[in-house]
Amino acid sequence: MIDSFDDFLLHPTLSRAIKAASYQKPTPIQSKAIPPLLEKKDLLGIAQTGTGKTAAFALPILNLLLKEPPRRKAKCTRVLVLLPTRELAIQVAESFEKYAHFSAISVACVFGGVSDIPQKKALLRGVDVLVATPGRLLDLLSQKAVSFKLLETFVLDEADRMLDMGFIQDIKKIIHWLPPARQNLFFSATMPPTIASLAKSILNQDPIRIEVVPQSTPVERIEQLVYKIDRKRKAALLKALLLEHPEMNKVLVFSRTKHGANKIVTQLEKAKITCAAIHGNKSQTRRQEALGNFKTEQIRVLVATDIAARGIDIESVSHVFNYDLPEVPETYVHRIGRTARAGKSGFAISFCSPEQESELKGIEKATQQKIPIGDFSLLLKSEAPLEKEKTPRVAPKPKTQRKASKKTKLKVKNKENFEENSKTDLKQTRPSRNRPGSRARKRMRAEQNQKT
Ligand code: AMP
Repeated sequence: MIDSFDDFLLHPTLSRAIKAASYQKPTPIQSKAIPPLLEKKDLLGIAQTGTGKTAAFALPILNLLLKEPPRRKAKCTRVLVLLPTRELAIQVAESFEKYAHFSAISVACVFGGVSDIPQKKALLRGVDVLVATPGRLLDLLSQKAVSFKLLETFVLDEADRMLDMGFIQDIKKIIHWLPPARQNLFFSATMPPTIASLAKSILNQDPIRIEVVPQSTPVERIEQLVYKIDRKRKAALLKALLLEHPEMNKVLVFSRTKHGANKIVTQLEKAKITCAAIHGNKSQTRRQEALGNFKTEQIRVLVATDIAARGIDIESVSHVFNYDLPEVPETYVHRIGRTARAGKSGFAISFCSPEQESELKGIEKATQQKIPIGDFSLLLKSEAPLEKEKTPRVAPKPKTQRKASKKTKLKVKNKENFEENSKTDLKQTRPSRNRPGSRARKRMRAEQNQKT
């Protein structure tokens, strides 16, 4: 097993970039994948983000590009990397840029949800590496803004997520545009039959197969808790935990739905907890802004759906909350794996409502671990003030006043009547002279007492 980057004999500009990134030694997937990829072999990788997968394919691809004389042609790319989400595309493009920083390699990134004009401009003179999401790429292909005439390497990353997001047909269309003689790299975290057959249709015969599990399985290093709680009380519990524990400083909350994510943000904002949501209904700019603010710790909580958060590399997440338990146990493992990265410790807290008991059982079976039950005393302590928030901030107007304004409105057309009514209304709303506790009444009482 190769345990030094020097052993790969990479191009000097790449070695310099690896040193600049402070990578001490290759991760297992890098040790296994880099040598065959340097020989232009096809690869089937069963691996997830967090394993060092991006460098495992980016470094050999860049090395091959650097070894050959530069070939640049208008609108052409020599490498195509396909990813399912905009965030992942940006992340992978940034990794390519990082590793190619000391060379003249050019990298472009195209994704939907933003204007295509700057993207077309970036492609105009041709690029070495193009990182793309399927929808926007097809769009650019139909506009003839990109060409695969010079394509040498095709990478399909996060294939199972592509399937989940309904991109398989788009991918098949894109493959038709690619030249048949090419190197193919296919990565997926799982290998269900549909993905296996897609891989077979893309890869050349006898690809290298590499399977890597994350360096340490989450169950071993992550402290987990589950709160069995009614759906309606989840927001109160989340707020109570965040308010009570300042050490929960970089918190990722998973919501099952986009609407649910928005609701959580509204609830937390009420408690003055800085937060933002990322999901498919948010514009690209808002998603990038939220992610950036979370990474730089300008906000404490990021609420995300699985699709939006998948594969995003965020350092030092202190706590992961499963506001809703996922239906698939593997998703639970993926989610909680966002904490405890790079040898750090981490915490995962799940909320399980009565209707989600079967999901909890599935997770405990898959992780072969009984998740300890969380302590509720905190919620009980904090529920009184939380309940208070339910009362509307603006007190309702007294009935008499409300009546008066209605009356006034109705009769506003007839000035005489209006004025007359206003007077009577005024009379009605004026406080009664001898209402209990009034000065007049007190005086009357005193007079009576004197008489008796
Ligand atoms: P990836 O799985 O490609 O998303 O990588 C996850 C994280 O690991 C990224 O932040 C990389 O910068 C980092 N990384 C990749 N390779 C190494 C390495 N050999 N040593 C240390 N960190 C690495």
